[in-house]
Amino acid sequence: MLDLAIIGGGPAGLTAGLYATRGGLKNVVMYEKGLPGGQITQSSEIENYPGIKEVVTGMELMEPWPEQCMRFGLKHEMAEVTRVSKTAAGFFKITLAGGDEALAENVIVCTGSTPRRAGFKGEDAFFGKGVSTCATCDGFFYKDREVAVLGGGDTALEEALYLANICSRVYLIHRRDSFRAAPSTIEKVKSNPKIELVLNSTVKEVYGDASGVNGVLAEDKEGNVIDLKVPGIFVFVGMNVNNGVLKQDDGSFLCDVNAQGEVIVDLGMRTSVEGLFAAGDIRIEAPKQVVCAAGDGAVAALQVVARSL
Ligand code: FAD
Ligand code: NAP
Repeated sequence: MLDLAIIGGGPAGLTAGLYATRGGLKNVVMYEKGLPGGQITQSSEIENYPGIKEVVTGMELMEPWPEQCMRFGLKHEMAEVTRVSKTAAGFFKITLAGGDEALAENVIVCTGSTPRRAGFKGEDAFFGKGVSTCATCDGFFYKDREVAVLGGGDTALEEALYLANICSRVYLIHRRDSFRAAPSTIEKVKSNPKIELVLNSTVKEVYGDASGVNGVLAEDKEGNVIDLKVPGIFVFVGMNVNNGVLKQDDGSFLCDVNAQGEVIVDLGMRTSVEGLFAAGDIRIEAPKQVVCAAGDGAVAALQVVARSL
């Protein structure tokens, strides 16, 4: 029986593990399907994590976390959790992708969020062949070439700036004429000579052939279509929360979620089910920041420690 199972090894899960084990819990496992670090490891730069004065990549930021967070006995199991459910005896059952199961007295769900698809024609067919959601991973394929970016939030604008360092031109396509990103980022984008704004427009279609994308058709509000002959488009249109592990056989969720599927928690990161906590991007009103996810993980772990006294 685990004292605590943590699902997900991003900033929230790692920090939860640090605080739980340092708080005295002995049998704590963090299930992470990939390498620990979370989605920020895909980011080309982060400059708002307190205490880190330099602009660093997400990978650089997260590199020391696993060692520090595991120093007090947190165990990492590289496994995908398919479901968290409740047993008749009142414990939590953790089911893994291979069918293995574990029992836990407490669970903190920290499965974060993943990039949303925009829904234009060709998006799925060309995904990985010119359509990408990760500039750090795929930007270099377009060195000295033109690319398109779709979206008007922090991610789209920051990644457009990153791509402008590598590519000859970046067409930033946004469905409105104002952005929802941080004002300083908007200023940088507007003053970057390599970024061309395509405003009040959406992507209608991405076309290409067996070798990948050849172009993007963008349509403005009057129905005018422009044909951008680019080999790549980066889609940054928001995030979906990864709440799949909470789905039960009958389609219901183990705990209360809102209309967007975000887990409803109180200030202690407690869900509607005793012993079940949610931390980081998956929770309601998450500011979707590394510092907040880490803070949530600490708060949830301290609640579990208090429950176990
Ligand atoms: P995540 O980081 O999403 O981690 C969740 C983890 O759970 C993942 O590692 C995933 O593999 C794992 N997981 C999911 N499902 C399962 C499962 N079923 N079984 C096992 N493991 C599972 N924030 C900032 O503060 N500053 C920035 O500058 C910034 N820039 C960003 C740039 C980009 C491109 C992106 C995508 C995000 C950025 N963010 C930034 C947001 C920040 O990355 C997130 O808010 C933060 O990572 C959320 O942490 P989390 O631990 O809640 O979830
Ligand atoms: P976001 O803030 O939700 O922005 C999504 C953008 O995509 C919006 O501009 C939206 O347009 C547009 N969009 C949505 N659906 C679309 C569609 N189908 N077709 C075309 N455009 C579409 O998402 P995000 O930029 O990924 O940011 C997610 C969270 O992480 C935010 O809270 C953000 O602040 C945070 N984040 C922070 C940092 C940082 O602090 N430096 C960096 C990255 C992310 P509208 O504007 O018209 O709605």
